[in-house]
Amino acid sequence: MKVLVVEDEKPIASFVRNGLEEQGYTVDLCHNGHDGLTLAMSRSYDAVVLDIMLPGRDGLSILKLLRQRNDPVPVIIITSRGEVEERVEGLNLGADDYLAKPFYISELIARLQSVFRRSMASGGQTLEVENLCIDLMTRQVRRGGEEIILSPREFNLLVYLMRSPGRVFTRTQILEQVWEYHFDPGSNLVDSCVRRLRQKVDQGHELQLIETIRGVGYRLRSSQPQGESVA
Ligand code: CA
Repeated sequence: MKVLVVEDEKPIASFVRNGLEEQGYTVDLCHNGHDGLTLAMSRSYDAVVLDIMLPGRDGLSILKLLRQRNDPVPVIIITSRGEVEERVEGLNLGADDYLAKPFYISELIARLQSVFRRSMASGGQTLEVENLCIDLMTRQVRRGGEEIILSPREFNLLVYLMRSPGRVFTRTQILEQVWEYHFDPGSNLVDSCVRRLRQKVDQGHELQLIETIRGVGYRLRSSQPQGESVA
């Protein structure tokens, strides 16, 4: 299970990370709201532990954006003592649970297990755009009911595009997020992967979902209205 922890108080953040890692979770940690949002949108997590008061961008606005994008990732918000309004607002915005500081790590683990159980029971996490659907738990991809078999890289690229339908990603962004390359390998890795993905996803369909934006990059076509831009 992979968890994103967004918490600016470094002692609490390390305490949470160590506690979760001891229990076998994989943890990504960041200390400000901008990085938190970027990670939450570009990678696939089983849950997000989100502090409310953060430098850069507050936790509630991150939660709001994720839910506007129909991202069903389970979110547990962390509030400080007395932040009752924030807690209520967080739950109204679609947080799955909350914890008030100070808390024991065992409490957080119990909440996480409970949101995982609920998320599995509701059929796991899915991403859907038009008639294309990904089940993130089983990694099954379907278009119009027909199963599509993807390589792990093609799968990660498709998830990346589908998390933000309509948004254009440059080749550099895709290389960084899907390949985790922070340099230009001097080849057309991205273009080749997009070409293979397109053959599998779009061939035989009237609506071409994977769109090339000439001179810029790629995006997943969406007829849905866009939320706030975070680029
Ligand atoms: Ca804080």
